[in-house]
Amino acid sequence: MKTRVVKVDQVDPDIGVLKEASGVIKNGGTVVFPTETVYGLGANAYSAEACSKIFKAKNRPEDNPLIVHVANRRQLLDCTSEQDPEVMRALDSIWPGPLTVLMKRSSRIPDNVTAGLDTVAVRMPANPLALKLIEMSGVPIAAPSANIATRPSIVDSADAIAELDGLVDMILDAGPTFFGIESTIINTMKKPVELLRPGAFDHADLEPYFDNIVVSDVARGISASEIAITPGMKYRHYSPDRELYILSDAGLIKSFPTGAVGEKAMLIMSSEKFEGLSVDGISLGSEENLYEIARNLFTAFRKLERTPKAFGLIQSFPERGVGLAIMNRIRKASSGTINSKEELEALLHSG
Ligand code: AMP
Ligand code: MG
Repeated sequence: MKTRVVKVDQVDPDIGVLKEASGVIKNGGTVVFPTETVYGLGANAYSAEACSKIFKAKNRPEDNPLIVHVANRRQLLDCTSEQDPEVMRALDSIWPGPLTVLMKRSSRIPDNVTAGLDTVAVRMPANPLALKLIEMSGVPIAAPSANIATRPSIVDSADAIAELDGLVDMILDAGPTFFGIESTIINTMKKPVELLRPGAFDHADLEPYFDNIVVSDVARGISASEIAITPGMKYRHYSPDRELYILSDAGLIKSFPTGAVGEKAMLIMSSEKFEGLSVDGISLGSEENLYEIARNLFTAFRKLERTPKAFGLIQSFPERGVGLAIMNRIRKASSGTINSKEELEALLHSG
Protein backbone atom coordinates (compact mmCIF):
# COMPACT_ATOMS: atom_id res chain seq x y z
CA MET A 1 0.00 0.00 0.00
CA LYS A 2 1.26 3.49 -0.82
CA THR A 3 1.12 5.76 2.22
CA ARG A 4 0.76 9.53 1.85
CA VAL A 5 2.89 11.25 4.51
CA VAL A 6 2.01 14.93 4.93
CA LYS A 7 3.51 17.47 7.32
CA VAL A 8 0.93 19.48 9.23
CA ASP A 9 0.66 21.75 12.26
CA GLN A 10 -1.31 20.24 15.20
CA VAL A 11 -2.56 23.55 16.53
CA ASP A 12 -3.22 25.43 13.31
CA PRO A 13 -3.67 22.71 10.68
CA ASP A 14 -3.67 23.54 6.97
CA ILE A 15 -7.19 23.28 5.56
CA GLY A 16 -5.99 21.57 2.38
CA VAL A 17 -4.34 18.78 4.38
CA LEU A 18 -7.50 18.37 6.48
CA LYS A 19 -9.61 18.13 3.30
CA GLU A 20 -7.38 15.38 1.99
CA ALA A 21 -7.28 13.45 5.30
CA SER A 22 -11.04 13.71 5.86
CA GLY A 23 -11.51 12.58 2.25
CA VAL A 24 -9.55 9.42 3.08
CA ILE A 25 -11.78 8.76 6.12
CA LYS A 26 -14.96 9.40 4.06
CA ASN A 27 -13.74 6.95 1.44
CA GLY A 28 -13.24 4.20 4.02
CA GLY A 29 -9.46 4.58 4.35
CA THR A 30 -7.08 4.79 7.32
CA VAL A 31 -5.35 7.91 8.67
CA VAL A 32 -2.70 8.13 11.40
CA PHE A 33 -3.18 11.37 13.34
CA PRO A 34 -2.04 12.97 16.60
CA THR A 35 -4.29 13.42 19.61
CA GLU A 36 -3.19 15.13 22.83
CA THR A 37 -2.36 11.66 24.27
CA VAL A 38 -0.71 9.46 21.61
CA TYR A 39 -1.00 8.98 17.82
CA GLY A 40 -4.15 7.15 16.72
CA LEU A 41 -4.80 4.92 13.68
CA GLY A 42 -8.24 6.03 12.60
CA ALA A 43 -11.10 5.06 10.30
CA ASN A 44 -14.83 5.82 9.92
CA ALA A 45 -16.37 4.47 13.15
CA TYR A 46 -19.68 3.74 11.36
CA SER A 47 -18.10 1.46 8.78
CA ALA A 48 -17.25 -2.11 9.75
CA GLU A 49 -15.24 -2.47 6.58
CA ALA A 50 -13.16 0.67 7.20
CA CYS A 51 -12.54 -0.36 10.83
CA SER A 52 -11.47 -3.84 9.82
CA LYS A 53 -8.52 -2.12 8.12
CA ILE A 54 -7.41 -0.81 11.52
CA PHE A 55 -7.23 -4.33 12.96
CA LYS A 56 -5.36 -5.55 9.91
CA ALA A 57 -2.79 -2.70 9.81
CA LYS A 58 -2.04 -3.01 13.54
CA ASN A 59 -2.31 -6.79 13.68
CA ARG A 60 -4.74 -6.15 16.55
CA PRO A 61 -6.69 -9.14 17.92
CA GLU A 62 -10.36 -8.89 16.96
CA ASP A 63 -11.52 -9.16 20.58
CA ASN A 64 -9.78 -5.90 21.55
CA PRO A 65 -12.29 -3.06 21.00
CA LEU A 66 -11.48 0.42 19.67
CA ILE A 67 -12.02 3.85 21.20
CA VAL A 68 -14.44 6.02 19.20
CA HIS A 69 -13.41 9.68 18.92
CA VAL A 70 -16.11 12.33 18.59
CA ALA A 71 -15.92 16.06 17.88
CA ASN A 72 -19.25 17.20 19.33
CA ARG A 73 -22.29 16.22 21.40
CA ARG A 74 -24.31 15.26 18.31
CA GLN A 75 -21.79 12.55 17.45
CA LEU A 76 -21.74 11.32 21.06
CA LEU A 77 -25.54 10.94 20.96
CA ASP A 78 -25.32 9.09 17.65
CA CYS A 79 -22.79 6.58 19.03
CA THR A 80 -24.58 5.82 22.27
CA SER A 81 -28.08 4.58 23.10
CA GLU A 82 -28.34 5.72 26.76
CA GLN A 83 -26.90 8.79 28.44
CA ASP A 84 -26.74 9.38 32.17
CA PRO A 85 -27.54 13.13 32.64
CA GLU A 86 -25.01 13.44 35.44
CA VAL A 87 -22.28 11.93 33.30
CA MET A 88 -23.26 14.15 30.36
CA ARG A 89 -22.92 17.24 32.59
CA ALA A 90 -19.50 16.10 33.75
CA LEU A 91 -18.40 15.49 30.16
CA ASP A 92 -19.54 18.99 29.20
CA SER A 93 -16.89 20.29 31.59
CA ILE A 94 -14.16 17.68 31.07
CA TRP A 95 -14.21 17.29 27.29
CA PRO A 96 -12.34 17.79 25.12
CA GLY A 97 -9.71 15.92 27.10
CA PRO A 98 -7.90 12.64 27.78
CA LEU A 99 -10.87 10.85 29.37
CA THR A 100 -12.57 7.86 27.72
CA VAL A 101 -15.95 6.72 29.03
CA LEU A 102 -17.87 3.51 28.50
CA MET A 103 -21.50 3.97 27.48
CA LYS A 104 -24.20 1.78 25.96
CA ARG A 105 -23.54 1.58 22.25
CA SER A 106 -26.02 2.56 19.55
CA SER A 107 -26.79 0.46 16.50
CA ARG A 108 -24.69 2.80 14.35
CA ILE A 109 -21.50 1.37 15.84
CA PRO A 110 -20.56 -1.85 14.09
CA ASP A 111 -19.76 -5.03 16.01
CA ASN A 112 -16.09 -5.12 15.20
CA VAL A 113 -15.50 -1.68 16.80
CA THR A 114 -16.74 -2.89 20.21
CA ALA A 115 -15.61 -6.49 19.76
CA GLY A 116 -19.24 -7.52 20.14
CA LEU A 117 -19.73 -5.80 23.53
CA ASP A 118 -22.90 -3.80 24.17
CA THR A 119 -20.78 -0.86 25.35
CA VAL A 120 -18.70 1.60 23.38
CA ALA A 121 -15.64 3.52 24.64
CA VAL A 122 -15.96 7.20 23.60
CA ARG A 123 -13.76 10.25 23.91
CA MET A 124 -13.48 13.82 22.58
CA PRO A 125 -9.77 14.57 22.08
CA ALA A 126 -8.30 17.96 23.02
CA ASN A 127 -6.23 18.38 19.91
CA PRO A 128 -7.26 20.98 17.30
CA LEU A 129 -6.05 18.85 14.39
CA ALA A 130 -7.87 15.73 15.63
CA LEU A 131 -11.09 17.65 16.33
CA LYS A 132 -11.11 19.32 12.90
CA LEU A 133 -10.33 16.03 11.18
CA ILE A 134 -13.31 14.34 12.89
CA GLU A 135 -15.59 17.31 12.18
CA MET A 136 -14.68 17.52 8.49
CA SER A 137 -15.00 13.74 8.09
CA GLY A 138 -18.60 14.09 9.28
CA VAL A 139 -18.38 10.83 11.24
CA PRO A 140 -16.78 9.75 14.53
CA ILE A 141 -13.35 8.20 14.06
CA ALA A 142 -12.53 4.86 15.67
CA ALA A 143 -8.86 4.93 16.57
CA PRO A 144 -6.74 2.77 18.81
CA SER A 145 -3.15 3.75 19.51
CA ALA A 146 -1.28 3.74 16.21
CA ASN A 147 1.47 1.27 17.20
CA ILE A 148 1.57 -2.28 15.87
CA ALA A 149 -0.13 -4.52 18.49
CA THR A 150 2.06 -5.28 21.57
CA ARG A 151 4.52 -2.46 20.71
CA PRO A 152 5.01 0.78 22.68
CA SER A 153 2.50 3.49 21.79
CA ILE A 154 3.60 6.10 19.27
CA VAL A 155 4.09 9.62 20.62
CA ASP A 156 6.00 11.18 17.73
CA SER A 157 5.29 11.18 13.99
CA ALA A 158 8.84 10.01 13.16
CA ASP A 159 8.02 6.71 14.91
CA ALA A 160 4.62 6.59 13.17
CA ILE A 161 6.32 6.83 9.77
CA ALA A 162 8.97 4.24 10.69
CA GLU A 163 6.34 1.77 11.95
CA LEU A 164 3.37 2.28 9.62
CA ASP A 165 4.62 3.47 6.22
CA GLY A 166 3.04 1.10 3.70
CA LEU A 167 0.33 -0.14 6.12
CA VAL A 168 -2.07 2.83 6.15
CA ASP A 169 -3.44 5.29 3.58
CA MET A 170 -2.18 8.48 5.21
CA ILE A 171 0.08 9.64 8.05
CA LEU A 172 -0.21 13.17 9.41
CA ASP A 173 3.35 14.13 10.28
CA ALA A 174 2.76 16.55 13.16
CA GLY A 175 5.61 15.99 15.63
CA PRO A 176 5.34 14.98 19.29
CA THR A 177 2.05 14.66 21.18
CA PHE A 178 1.32 16.66 24.34
CA PHE A 179 0.81 14.05 27.09
CA GLY A 180 2.63 11.10 25.50
CA ILE A 181 0.52 8.62 27.47
CA GLU A 182 -2.96 7.26 26.68
CA SER A 183 -6.32 8.46 27.92
CA THR A 184 -7.84 7.45 31.24
CA ILE A 185 -10.72 4.97 30.80
CA ILE A 186 -13.62 4.91 33.27
CA ASN A 187 -16.82 2.93 33.48
CA THR A 188 -19.51 5.48 34.31
CA MET A 189 -22.28 2.87 34.22
CA LYS A 190 -20.97 1.55 37.53
CA LYS A 191 -21.63 3.50 40.73
CA PRO A 192 -19.23 4.47 42.14
CA VAL A 193 -17.44 5.04 38.85
CA GLU A 194 -14.69 2.53 38.14
CA LEU A 195 -11.26 3.35 36.77
CA LEU A 196 -10.40 0.75 34.12
CA ARG A 197 -7.18 2.22 32.78
CA PRO A 198 -5.16 4.98 34.48
CA GLY A 199 -4.03 7.59 31.98
CA ALA A 200 -3.22 11.22 31.34
CA PHE A 201 -6.01 12.45 33.66
CA ASP A 202 -5.43 11.42 37.26
CA HIS A 203 -7.69 11.12 40.29
CA ALA A 204 -7.41 14.81 41.11
CA ASP A 205 -8.60 15.74 37.60
CA LEU A 206 -11.69 13.54 37.89
CA GLU A 207 -12.66 13.80 41.56
CA PRO A 208 -14.55 17.10 41.14
CA TYR A 209 -16.93 15.28 38.77
CA PHE A 210 -17.13 11.70 40.03
CA ASP A 211 -17.39 10.67 43.70
CA ASN A 212 -15.26 7.88 45.18
CA ILE A 213 -13.72 6.58 41.97
CA VAL A 214 -12.77 2.93 42.49
CA VAL A 215 -9.45 1.82 41.03
CA SER A 216 -10.14 -1.61 39.54
CA ASP A 217 -7.56 -4.38 39.82
CA VAL A 218 -7.39 -4.21 36.03
CA ALA A 219 -6.18 -0.62 36.27
CA ARG A 220 -3.44 -1.67 38.66
CA GLY A 221 -2.48 -4.48 36.29
CA ILE A 222 -2.94 -7.17 38.93
CA SER A 223 -6.27 -8.78 38.03
CA ALA A 224 -6.53 -12.30 36.72
CA SER A 225 -10.09 -11.73 35.56
CA GLU A 226 -9.41 -8.63 33.55
CA ILE A 227 -10.53 -10.22 30.30
CA ALA A 228 -14.20 -9.75 31.04
CA ILE A 229 -13.83 -6.13 32.09
CA THR A 230 -11.67 -4.50 29.46
CA PRO A 231 -10.62 -6.96 26.82
CA GLY A 232 -7.50 -5.15 25.63
CA MET A 233 -5.84 -5.35 29.01
CA LYS A 234 -5.10 -9.06 28.82
CA TYR A 235 -2.63 -8.67 25.98
CA ARG A 236 1.07 -8.07 26.13
CA HIS A 237 1.30 -4.32 25.80
CA TYR A 238 3.60 -1.38 25.28
CA SER A 239 6.55 -3.76 25.00
CA PRO A 240 9.88 -2.90 23.48
CA ASP A 241 11.60 -5.60 21.49
CA ARG A 242 14.06 -6.09 24.36
CA GLU A 243 13.60 -7.46 27.88
CA LEU A 244 12.81 -4.82 30.44
CA TYR A 245 12.98 -5.30 34.23
CA ILE A 246 11.72 -3.03 36.97
CA LEU A 247 14.03 -2.11 39.84
CA SER A 248 11.91 -2.04 43.00
CA ASP A 249 14.63 0.23 44.38
CA ALA A 250 16.98 2.09 42.02
CA GLY A 251 19.56 2.08 44.85
CA LEU A 252 20.17 -1.64 44.14
CA ILE A 253 22.50 -0.74 41.27
CA LYS A 254 24.85 0.92 43.76
CA SER A 255 25.73 -2.55 45.14
CA PHE A 256 27.62 -3.21 41.90
CA PRO A 257 30.44 -1.44 40.06
CA THR A 258 28.65 0.81 37.55
CA GLY A 259 30.71 -0.82 34.79
CA ALA A 260 29.22 -4.22 35.60
CA VAL A 261 25.68 -2.87 35.32
CA GLY A 262 26.34 -0.61 32.33
CA GLU A 263 27.95 -3.34 30.27
CA LYS A 264 24.78 -5.42 30.13
CA ALA A 265 21.92 -3.16 31.09
CA MET A 266 20.52 0.06 29.74
CA LEU A 267 19.36 2.06 32.73
CA ILE A 268 16.12 4.01 32.30
CA MET A 269 15.69 6.43 35.20
CA SER A 270 14.95 10.00 36.20
CA SER A 271 17.69 12.63 35.93
CA GLU A 272 17.88 12.63 39.75
CA LYS A 273 18.67 8.91 39.87
CA PHE A 274 21.50 9.35 37.34
CA GLU A 275 23.17 12.03 39.49
CA GLY A 276 26.62 10.94 40.64
CA LEU A 277 26.60 7.77 38.55
CA SER A 278 29.23 7.37 35.86
CA VAL A 279 27.10 5.26 33.57
CA ASP A 280 25.15 6.26 30.51
CA GLY A 281 21.49 5.47 30.16
CA ILE A 282 18.17 6.89 29.08
CA SER A 283 16.94 9.77 31.20
CA LEU A 284 13.18 10.14 31.62
CA GLY A 285 13.50 13.72 32.91
CA SER A 286 12.94 15.04 36.40
CA GLU A 287 10.98 13.14 39.06
CA GLU A 288 9.71 16.53 40.17
CA ASN A 289 7.41 16.45 37.15
CA LEU A 290 5.75 13.08 36.57
CA TYR A 291 4.11 14.45 33.39
CA GLU A 292 7.58 14.82 31.94
CA ILE A 293 8.35 11.19 32.91
CA ALA A 294 5.08 10.06 31.28
CA ARG A 295 5.83 12.01 28.10
CA ASN A 296 9.29 10.42 27.76
CA LEU A 297 8.33 6.85 28.67
CA PHE A 298 7.35 5.33 25.31
CA THR A 299 10.20 7.10 23.53
CA ALA A 300 12.57 5.58 26.11
CA PHE A 301 11.18 2.09 25.34
CA ARG A 302 11.85 2.67 21.66
CA LYS A 303 15.36 4.01 22.40
CA LEU A 304 16.06 0.84 24.39
CA GLU A 305 15.47 -1.22 21.24
CA ARG A 306 18.18 0.71 19.41
CA THR A 307 20.89 0.08 22.02
CA PRO A 308 23.28 -2.86 21.96
CA LYS A 309 22.54 -3.72 25.63
CA ALA A 310 21.11 -7.10 26.62
CA PHE A 311 18.16 -5.66 28.55
CA GLY A 312 16.73 -2.56 30.16
CA LEU A 313 16.43 -1.75 33.87
CA ILE A 314 13.82 0.83 34.75
CA GLN A 315 13.19 2.43 38.14
CA SER A 316 9.75 2.41 39.77
CA PHE A 317 7.76 5.54 40.46
CA PRO A 318 5.32 6.45 43.23
CA GLU A 319 1.78 5.48 42.20
CA ARG A 320 0.40 8.92 42.88
CA GLY A 321 -1.29 11.15 40.32
CA VAL A 322 -0.13 10.32 36.80
CA GLY A 323 2.40 7.95 38.45
CA LEU A 324 -0.41 5.37 38.51
CA ALA A 325 -0.55 5.44 34.69
CA ILE A 326 3.25 5.41 34.43
CA MET A 327 3.57 2.28 36.61
CA ASN A 328 0.68 0.57 34.78
CA ARG A 329 2.53 0.98 31.45
CA ILE A 330 5.91 -0.02 32.92
CA ARG A 331 4.46 -3.20 34.50
CA LYS A 332 2.79 -4.24 31.27
CA ALA A 333 5.94 -3.57 29.22
CA SER A 334 8.27 -5.43 31.58
CA SER A 335 9.12 -9.08 32.19
CA GLY A 336 9.40 -8.79 35.95
CA THR A 337 10.67 -6.93 38.99
CA ILE A 338 14.12 -7.12 40.54
CA ASN A 339 13.66 -6.93 44.31
CA SER A 340 17.10 -7.70 45.73
CA LYS A 341 20.84 -7.52 45.19
CA GLU A 342 20.86 -11.29 44.62
CA GLU A 343 18.20 -11.09 41.91
CA LEU A 344 20.10 -8.30 40.16
CA GLU A 345 23.34 -10.27 40.39
CA ALA A 346 21.67 -13.31 38.82
CA LEU A 347 20.29 -11.14 36.02
CA LEU A 348 23.65 -9.52 35.32
CA HIS A 349 25.27 -12.94 35.05
CA SER A 350 22.56 -14.51 32.91
CA GLY A 351 22.81 -15.17 29.18
P1 AMP B 1 -5.97 1.79 22.73
O1 AMP B 1 -6.85 2.60 21.86
O2 AMP B 1 -4.94 1.05 21.99
O3 AMP B 1 -5.45 2.64 23.84
O4 AMP B 1 -6.87 0.69 23.41
C1 AMP B 1 -8.18 0.97 23.77
C2 AMP B 1 -8.49 0.38 25.10
O5 AMP B 1 -9.86 0.61 25.38
C3 AMP B 1 -8.26 -1.12 25.15
O6 AMP B 1 -7.62 -1.46 26.35
C4 AMP B 1 -9.68 -1.67 25.10
O7 AMP B 1 -9.80 -2.90 25.74
C5 AMP B 1 -10.47 -0.58 25.81
N1 AMP B 1 -11.87 -0.57 25.37
C6 AMP B 1 -12.36 -0.14 24.20
N2 AMP B 1 -13.70 -0.33 24.13
C7 AMP B 1 -14.06 -0.91 25.29
C8 AMP B 1 -15.29 -1.38 25.83
N3 AMP B 1 -16.43 -1.28 25.16
N4 AMP B 1 -15.28 -1.94 27.07
C9 AMP B 1 -14.14 -2.02 27.77
N5 AMP B 1 -12.93 -1.61 27.31
C10 AMP B 1 -12.89 -1.06 26.09
MG1 MG C 1 -2.93 0.62 22.49
